[in-house]
Amino acid sequence: MASNAAPASTGVYRDGKNLIVMRGAELPPICIRCGQAATGGFLHRKAYWHERWLYLLLIPGVIWYAIAALFVRKRMDLAVPLCVQHRYRYLQLRRAAIAMMIAGGIFVIVSFFVSADDLIYPMLACFVLLLAGVITWLVAGLFLTPKFIDAALGVFSGPGEQFLAQIPLKPESLFVPSRS
Ligand SMILES: [Zn+2]
Repeated sequence: MASNAAPASTGVYRDGKNLIVMRGAELPPICIRCGQAATGGFLHRKAYWHERWLYLLLIPGVIWYAIAALFVRKRMDLAVPLCVQHRYRYLQLRRAAIAMMIAGGIFVIVSFFVSADDLIYPMLACFVLLLAGVITWLVAGLFLTPKFIDAALGVFSGPGEQFLAQIPLKPESLFVPSRS
């Protein structure tokens, strides 16, 4: 069993590369990325998950999927522990993302005043900047990816190996109804 476990958190288990969090349990104060002490505090995140078949509703239209997902999805609130370094890296990426989105906006406005005739390239550049900004924003905040959530527990992928190494293994008796 895990021997070097930091202040053992009950209800948080390791299952291979996944993390199992019982509803209401708190993650231990060790960085989710590197396993060092969580000197950067906790980052509050809402995790949502729904069954895969729901994506079929994208075929009739995004709006049907969005409405159904809103009702069917399961939510779990998590406080993600981070060290100072990894919190700083996260903030830097988020700032870079905002800068890209603002730059995209400024770019298209400026080019509109410079030459209103040939706007296709500035528009394209703006779109690329906005897209890059949105992707950077999302990736920066991706600490734990929900693979399954129900009323009792959540299964997440994404924690660093040094974090997982300090988490007790899933008890045999705990049934997790998720497919990897
Ligand atoms: Zn860290």
